[in-house]
Amino acid sequence: MILMMCVLLATAIASPAAAAVRIGEAGDAVAVIVVGDVESKGSHIAAADLQDVLKRITGAEFEIVEQTDDTDARTRIFVGGGGPVRAIASDIDFDGLARDEIVMKTVGRDLVLAGGGPRGTVYAVSTFFQDVLGCRWWAPGALTAPNDPDLAVEPLDVRYRPPFELRFVLSQIGGVPEARRWHRLSYDLSFDISPRGIPSRALRPDRYYADHPEYFAYLREDGSEDREGTYLFLRKQWKHNAIHEPKPNSYNKWVEVLDRTRRAYNQFCPNSAGARRVITDAVLEELEKNRSAGALPEIVWVAQGHANFMCQCDACEAMRGREGSDSSNWIRMVNAVAAEVAPKFPTVKVGTFAFLHTEAPPATLEPADNVLIYHMLHETNRLDPVTTYPFHADAMRKWARIGTVYVWDYDANYRNYYQPYPNYFVSGQNVKYFHEVGVDGIMVQGGFGKAADLAAMRTWVTAQMMWNPKRDPRTLMIEFLNGYYGAAGPYLMEYIETMVDAAHRKKGLWLGSYAFTTKDWATVRDMNAATRLFNEAAAAVRADRILAQRVWLARKSIDLSWLDRYDEFRNAAREQGLPFLGPANPSKIVDAVAPFRTSWGHWHIGKPFSAYFDEIREKFPPQP
Ligand SMILES: [Zn+2]
Repeated sequence: MILMMCVLLATAIASPAAAAVRIGEAGDAVAVIVVGDVESKGSHIAAADLQDVLKRITGAEFEIVEQTDDTDARTRIFVGGGGPVRAIASDIDFDGLARDEIVMKTVGRDLVLAGGGPRGTVYAVSTFFQDVLGCRWWAPGALTAPNDPDLAVEPLDVRYRPPFELRFVLSQIGGVPEARRWHRLSYDLSFDISPRGIPSRALRPDRYYADHPEYFAYLREDGSEDREGTYLFLRKQWKHNAIHEPKPNSYNKWVEVLDRTRRAYNQFCPNSAGARRVITDAVLEELEKNRSAGALPEIVWVAQGHANFMCQCDACEAMRGREGSDSSNWIRMVNAVAAEVAPKFPTVKVGTFAFLHTEAPPATLEPADNVLIYHMLHETNRLDPVTTYPFHADAMRKWARIGTVYVWDYDANYRNYYQPYPNYFVSGQNVKYFHEVGVDGIMVQGGFGKAADLAAMRTWVTAQMMWNPKRDPRTLMIEFLNGYYGAAGPYLMEYIETMVDAAHRKKGLWLGSYAFTTKDWATVRDMNAATRLFNEAAAAVRADRILAQRVWLARKSIDLSWLDRYDEFRNAAREQGLPFLGPANPSKIVDAVAPFRTSWGHWHIGKPFSAYFDEIREKFPPQP
């Protein structure tokens, strides 16, 4: 019999006299799975998952049925809160369950696993696997489950609602449907993560720029030809485009408008009534179209472009001066759009970004109830949690106090997913802070590619924290490393600490997301230490083919980092009188990854591993 593994949730065990619910007996199924919501796809998917996992634990085949009655002698496991379960569990307010809220409850000899729409039932079953049965799903193809032919569960009465309504990991693993179910990620909140959204589609320069330059951002200062978002930079770029873009093009005409009006179409002026009208009409039209197609989104984006264009017209500057942040201009504009959206589309939120010049909230102006703030931690140093950086932490606390806030956090190096990225403790600690200040949803942009730096661990820990931010990220990391890498786990934890210490030893390190190599922080001494730890990790699991393979893959971060700076490390070791533990024959490292040239996916944002492979192959050709 399996007892509750972790009492993580607000669990109230029913009276101790109540009997355990029997599921398996000597490898036979003594329970039947009943699909509670026949109409719900999630209910069917969850029932199939339950069938697989129960078979894995007990060895028995469990039947899935859509109907049953009281005369069935078997335990009934209801998956979803529709149909017959309402009669037997009349004290559960199924219709009152919030989005993603779950119920796990034993009722006599039966068990109910259900949740609020659209995927709460999937999350209830996943939580049952993890918290009650003690299963762990680490990564695709890596499930740890107990073996118990006599499976039974103690009386249960759990109701839990995760504090974040958006829990999204944008990573290779986060995109796998099985991962989304096990990790309880919400992937039903449709949102367009392209930075601009409707305004840039609606305010097309060919349509509006020449006739209505006043719709667009005014550039009072000249800036410089090297500074993005300034008048001189733009002028140079457009003059260049006039010559180099396919002809005919409009750049010469646009340079003329720019010179005459100092307005740039790259951003609109948030105080322009004309621009606001065009944007509002486009938003309403798009939502109407979506509604007719039966696909009304929950969020519609009215957000700035990525570049740092900030309107310097008199109205924008005055508002910014009064409110202390350019976000005031945006909130006023977005509130106006939202006021027209609310009566027609009461379920839709108008989303806008808090980042770059709009990151700090206004002093007094507040977002309307149907406005969503997406706070992007784009400009933070990723070396430490956001609490280390008061500007960002304070901005978030205040936004969360005055409005609905989602956070877009970053947890990878986008120029090289494979090299060690020494921020391992940051994402989990950030989630804790997001919870503390009352953030409503989280999107974490992680790594892609098969050998991305400890990506399975990062995704697992972040997902566990997003479901229940009261947990401790370090404890979760240790659990993952021991569970997924077996006896190599403690060495990998030491490796992680070594990398994090190395980065912190480097005075004033700015850990951004766009470094091609480890040159800003890793020394040959650190690389030697990491290599020793991977040697010990490999030795610890030598006898287990699967664990050895996982350690081999994790080690690619270090193997490839040696190659990235091979001569530099060799020289440094010689000069400092240190051993050189990098590969004696670097071509062999390249040979070892050659079979994966086209199958490892990405290496760099938008670039395949093959591009990187070809570079290192050229540098270290095959040895005869
Ligand atoms: Zn303006």
